[in-house]
Amino acid sequence: MTSVLEKNRPGAAFPFDNSYAGLPQRFFAPQTPTPVTEPWLIKLNEPLAQELGLDVEALRRDGAAIFSGNLLPEGAAPLAMAYAGHQFGGFSPVLGDGRAILLGEVVGRNGRRYDIQLKGAGQTPFSRRGDGRAALGPVLREYIISEAMFALGIPATRALAAVTTGEPVYREEVLPGAVFTRVAASHIRVGTFQFFAARGDTDGVRALADYVIDRHYPELKEAENPYLALFEAVSERQAALIARWLHVGFIHGVMNTDNMTVSGETIDFGPCAFMDSYNPATVFSSIDQHGRYAYANQPAIGQWNLARLGETLLPLIDPDQDGAVDKANVVIRAYGERFQAHWLKGMRAKIGLAGEEDGDLELVQALLALMQAQTADFTLTFRRLSDLAGDNAAEPAFAASFREPETSGEWLARWRERLSRDQQAATDRAAAMHSVNPAFIPRNHRVEQAIEAAVESGDFSLFETLLEVLAKPYDDQPDFAAYGEPPQPHERVLATFCGT
Ligand code: AMP
Ligand code: MG
Repeated sequence: MTSVLEKNRPGAAFPFDNSYAGLPQRFFAPQTPTPVTEPWLIKLNEPLAQELGLDVEALRRDGAAIFSGNLLPEGAAPLAMAYAGHQFGGFSPVLGDGRAILLGEVVGRNGRRYDIQLKGAGQTPFSRRGDGRAALGPVLREYIISEAMFALGIPATRALAAVTTGEPVYREEVLPGAVFTRVAASHIRVGTFQFFAARGDTDGVRALADYVIDRHYPELKEAENPYLALFEAVSERQAALIARWLHVGFIHGVMNTDNMTVSGETIDFGPCAFMDSYNPATVFSSIDQHGRYAYANQPAIGQWNLARLGETLLPLIDPDQDGAVDKANVVIRAYGERFQAHWLKGMRAKIGLAGEEDGDLELVQALLALMQAQTADFTLTFRRLSDLAGDNAAEPAFAASFREPETSGEWLARWRERLSRDQQAATDRAAAMHSVNPAFIPRNHRVEQAIEAAVESGDFSLFETLLEVLAKPYDDQPDFAAYGEPPQPHERVLATFCGT
């Protein structure tokens, strides 16, 4: 039994239940966070803390110390995870948590296990030349975008807290330092498997695969070939995830294999951004010079990354190498169909179709082609179409999404003709469409404005407002209508930076 005293002790705020720390020693390096001079709590995500069964009051009181790494909560087993990865196609056999420290795991109220990780908590054995720190801007960006993804219903790591450190970090300029606390189903990446495979450490790959099956895919333990089934299950989750990204115009920006989870959550919100006007070639990341990670390339890169995962699993899939390759190839090929099925299902929903007809793909493609030619805003076009589904008076607003509004008439006629064969009441259709076509996404210019106010003048009010608006992306929120608008030409943000 915990006494009152014990309960009020500074650090007893997390009911830790650590499992990764029990894996073989070569999986990680034990590492405590490096203290900072003047921690200040910017934000604590109280609803999330509650879902995780954390002691919210203790966190309100000691959050600055805990989330900066100055106070190690009782029961933590802090460590830096080892991983490798292909970055922009080139392989690095050792990456690892160079500035992130896993505090430990908790089992949430929903019975699921979560990692709690500090990002920017100081150097680790994997830091190479890095300082182990994070700057305030990227911390706020990750906070905003990961929470927006969650509210949109897209699997993603979450933001538990953000603190400033009171210390400068040195990038191209001197910036305020910060630490981000991330919550993830786990931080195991494709690159974690690659770390062991690259060393020929098949026992390591097997121990990791068994751990992942236990933690993320327990139902596969009974499968005839659990490792092949694991590969298939990860492919399925990634196909579903990347389809969801495309449905909301999300561009991850650094889909390196070390930034792809095996749990199926979006992770590492560096130079990621949401597209304003529709163009499949859109790239924001300043370091993605060849558009490897452009909007429309994401499904294919997902497949490329999965092939790298498959390679690591070959010795477990079948002792006969040719047999293993054949089996893995079936999964890799099936990924294309899996992705296409998820994508088309979501696109049908976006244009309000409950049923399926052969011509639906063409109807969707015709709209996208028109949007591209007419530089239509991706988010607004679908939101206005949702309005139009319930109210014909909304047609001029929909047409206004296109540079030449009159060009939308022909597609609308095709759409209405198709709807005449789709059994749904107009009000039901409009409601269904409003629930999949957001009014609010984290628009780049808004994100940048919020970051700039915080970094330049310590003003976090825009950050707070943005979080509030983005928490209900599918509601109209008339008071915040301006947040739904695309940027004015002078507000447009064309490039984003990793900030590492
Ligand atoms: P990321 O771009 O955040 O996905 O990180 C890629 C790799 O670089 C990972 O191994 C990180 O741990 C490492 N890294 C990024 N920034 C830093 C930093 N400031 N200090 C040390 N390592 C870093
Ligand atoms: Mg990363």
